Amino acid sequence: MTSSNGGFAELKFRDPARARALSATLERLLGEIGRAPVSVMHVCGSHEQAIAKFGLRAALPRALNVIMGPGCPVCITDVPEVDEGVALARQGVRIATYGDMVKVPGTVLSLADVQAEGGKVDVVYSVAQAVELARTIAEPLVFFATGFETTAVATAAAVLQNPPPNLFVLSAHKYIPPVMEIVAEMPDTRVEGFLAAGHAATITGWGVFEPFVERHKLPVVVAGFEPLDILAGLVKLVELIGAGTASVENMYPRCVTKEGNLRAQEQLWNVFRPIGGRWRGIAHVPNGNLRLRDEWAHLDARKQFDIDVNSLWDSAPPTLIQDCICGDIMAGIKSPTDCALFGEQCVPHSPVGACMVSSEGTCKIWHQYGGHPDLGGYGGAVCAR
Ligand code: SF4
Repeated sequence: MTSSNGGFAELKFRDPARARALSATLERLLGEIGRAPVSVMHVCGSHEQAIAKFGLRAALPRALNVIMGPGCPVCITDVPEVDEGVALARQGVRIATYGDMVKVPGTVLSLADVQAEGGKVDVVYSVAQAVELARTIAEPLVFFATGFETTAVATAAAVLQNPPPNLFVLSAHKYIPPVMEIVAEMPDTRVEGFLAAGHAATITGWGVFEPFVERHKLPVVVAGFEPLDILAGLVKLVELIGAGTASVENMYPRCVTKEGNLRAQEQLWNVFRPIGGRWRGIAHVPNGNLRLRDEWAHLDARKQFDIDVNSLWDSAPPTLIQDCICGDIMAGIKSPTDCALFGEQCVPHSPVGACMVSSEGTCKIWHQYGGHPDLGGYGGAVCAR
């Protein structure tokens, strides 16, 4: 993060003394609850990255179990969706997508594999870059669009801005609120409250969680991404759990309002409609997938191309993917170190499951920062200073 005040804003939210004080408050609150563990879930790869990067798990009381849920957009993009991109690329269609998506394994191949075979796959950092690329070429370009509402809004804006006629969208966008319902309803779930992602809530507003809280009687706290944002969010969440209060609390008021960004929401729902669909390793999530509305059929790759995924499925060789427990990890039931493949057959340069591919995937984050949640030895640990 950069700031016009020489970085003081950043320092303010990374102050070790305040972090230690928040950690002590957590300890006290958990002591008052008097049972362990108290389990909470965040649904955001950026939260997990910050927790690992700043060594926050080392500062968390043992009695608090912070689970990473299905918050990595690359990890939950389902295999058949990857297969659609792979099939198109093998059919000679040029594909543009985000860097992390290229290495995600489909049933047989990843987009990186097709690229190695000579397929045309371009890595872009934004949908705007895909639009620019389409303007410079004559052939069709399919933007394989992945990510949650934060990136879906950008795709929607591009669709509404009269993109070039050779640009098409293969949407694998997902919508977070419905998957929280799935996790809350899982019979084995240990989750007693949710830490919601501040960036998504800037769009949806924190009010979007009120029906969820009403239905499931579980508290939700919206939190930002600096260490103190996360610790303060956890303190509020444990406070609510201890008091038996199911409510939504906004601990990121500098960015999030109750209503959110109404203009962005209008764009999002003008372009996309929510439908049910599978999230990799999780389940069928009602209203969890975002697909282009019929009025945008002329841009919809699924409607404009004959995508032959059957040839991929028919030739699928045996893989280790059946031993991948990504789904249980994202559901909060298991941890990466419970996977027999972790750090052995499955490593970042040769991933078996999607959780080892993305910089927001739990397995990759744990591998990168030491392979175990107790990261006290990490030099960047805010609370250990
Ligand atoms: Fe899947 Fe690899 Fe994680 Fe195991 S270590 S759960 S195989 S991504």
